[in-house]
Amino acid sequence: MTTLHAASRERTTTGKGRPTTANGLAPTTPGGRGAPAGGLAVDLTALRKTYGATVAVDHVDLAVAPGEIVALLGPNGAGKSTTVDLLLGLDRPDTGSARIFGLPPATACAKGRVGAMLQSGGLPGETTVSELVHLMRALYPRALPGGEVLARARIADLAGRRTNELSGGETQRVRFALALVPDPDLLVLDEPTAAMDVETRKTFWESMRRWADGGRTALFATHYLEEADAVADRVVVLCRGRVVADGTTAEVKALAGGRTIRCTLPETAAADPDTATALGSLPGVRGVSIQDQSVHGRAVSLACTDSDLALRALLAGWPGTRDIEVRGAALDDAFLALTATNHDAATDHDGATNDQEEIDR
Ligand code: ADP
Repeated sequence: MTTLHAASRERTTTGKGRPTTANGLAPTTPGGRGAPAGGLAVDLTALRKTYGATVAVDHVDLAVAPGEIVALLGPNGAGKSTTVDLLLGLDRPDTGSARIFGLPPATACAKGRVGAMLQSGGLPGETTVSELVHLMRALYPRALPGGEVLARARIADLAGRRTNELSGGETQRVRFALALVPDPDLLVLDEPTAAMDVETRKTFWESMRRWADGGRTALFATHYLEEADAVADRVVVLCRGRVVADGTTAEVKALAGGRTIRCTLPETAAADPDTATALGSLPGVRGVSIQDQSVHGRAVSLACTDSDLALRALLAGWPGTRDIEVRGAALDDAFLALTATNHDAATDHDGATNDQEEIDR
């Protein structure tokens, strides 16, 4: 039996003097990270937001120190965009509070401390990129020179283009440039690389990292786990509106422990609605993810505590299983383990506390 401890607010201190949770991960409680003088860049306290019966954000505590690059991960509907909206003051929480450098979000935005790139929102079509950057500069007290904005976002080649003639990826890069205009101390990016091709994504992250190198802070939501792995210092995993893990990428990967078996089930098993439950109860398995059905069968990932045991049981139960791979923990395995095993815990949450979840399999 394995116990997976999800994000906890019970704190201990490592030998490095860095505050951690009981599971060895960074705390999510404001003030717990030993914030440097000047306070936290992001300070979300007991943030909760509901839409009718839907609890989009459920008692989220998140403290980000200046200089950190933090990835917000989670499956669709986990509450990432809502958290970002609440952080930026674009929506009001039911309860809890959001502060940016100690300021209410609207004040921090007005002072140009924050640059944001959201999923929604287009660009005005009757201007060139260069004109748009100069228009934006008028809004902020310490705006960067236009040429510097274009250079930092690596879009000098787009300066003369009309915004309605840009591709999806180019539009994203211009929106990134606009986020840099106020010379912010914090960048908040919601799925920034959506619509970018692989090469553009690479260039985008290089420019983001270069921007952050001077000790600035970034919080970005993404569903590209490899981006979080490559770019972020710290990963916060949301599931059903709650923080289920918070730590360095290495720490979050280690949470997955064990190994993952990936395979394709034979078509008969794939068609059986009880297959997921049966797989989940195999010895050595603690989490199951079944992907879309294809003509060849159904791809399955099993997060394992004992992959040898699980593999023997899998082949005994489904001898036609093929394309079998067994791999060590990667970020997507941790993500699978955390979001799959926290499903029930999140559903059962009574709204009072998120101190510690123990999911025994
Ligand atoms: P994510 O960004 O992780 O995909 P969201 O924050 O967009 O998640 O959504 C979290 C949950 O809140 C989802 O169930 C979503 O349907 C719901 N939700 C978000 N915004 C609204 C809204 N304006 N009205 C109703 N439900 C919403």
